[in-house]
Amino acid sequence: MSIPSDIISAAKRQGRTILTEEESKKLLRELNIETTQLSVASSKEEAVAESSKIGFPVVLKIASPDITHKSDAGGVKVNLNSAEEVAQAYEDIMESCKKQFPAARIDGVSVQNMVQPGIEVIIGMTKDSQFGPVIMFGLGGVWVEVLKDVSFRIAPLTESDAAKMIKEIKGFSLLKGYRGTPPADIAVLEDMLMKISRYAAETPDIKEIDLNPVFAYSDHAVAVDARVILEN
Ligand code: ADP
Ligand code: MG
Repeated sequence: MSIPSDIISAAKRQGRTILTEEESKKLLRELNIETTQLSVASSKEEAVAESSKIGFPVVLKIASPDITHKSDAGGVKVNLNSAEEVAQAYEDIMESCKKQFPAARIDGVSVQNMVQPGIEVIIGMTKDSQFGPVIMFGLGGVWVEVLKDVSFRIAPLTESDAAKMIKEIKGFSLLKGYRGTPPADIAVLEDMLMKISRYAAETPDIKEIDLNPVFAYSDHAVAVDARVILEN
């Protein structure tokens, strides 16, 4: 599995080490990791047109190579149900992001299908100076922020590593299903971990991968946000 790195080389030519969400999700699609649909609109009219193509409800997010923490910048609006709501969200996002990042290059907004709530997990890859690529798994939201409930393994993972790192987080019972909620598709999460691990092991250009959040359902899982960082 060798991935053509057009996306990576294009970013490098522009002197960028942080891939946009659009670029990061293109890479994921090449790895056969499910993500949201996404199309970048450079005007309000285009955003409205794209949203009716995708179908309501949609999510709008700031599309800028210089803004990576999109919510913090007021750059994410979810659950938009009409052309009017999309138009208003476009204006609000632009106003807030331009105010907070006056020097940022802004490409427009990405218009995405709004996926239904699932169990939020995060999957990541960072490089350790001693051990090289290290894979991380955890539950999303407060679980990672407050409880730091994550597990790590050095890449490349074996399938048994991937299974164990999911099982060993404290919140695993949430993934198994509790009080009548359906269990998450653990096999798909293991598969995502394996794909990220393999990709990291064979792509030295990549410094960091952050899929935060991934929404896990009973029969699949979707990377809702993605950020890939390249080596200098
Ligand atoms: P940030 O750059 O702030 O991390 P995200 O892309 O993660 O931005 O979006 C923030 C939150 O908005 C996510 O954690 C998720 O709860 C929600 N969200 C983002 N995109 C979608 C989507 N396509 N469908 C449903 N919810 C989404
Ligand atoms: Mg995110």
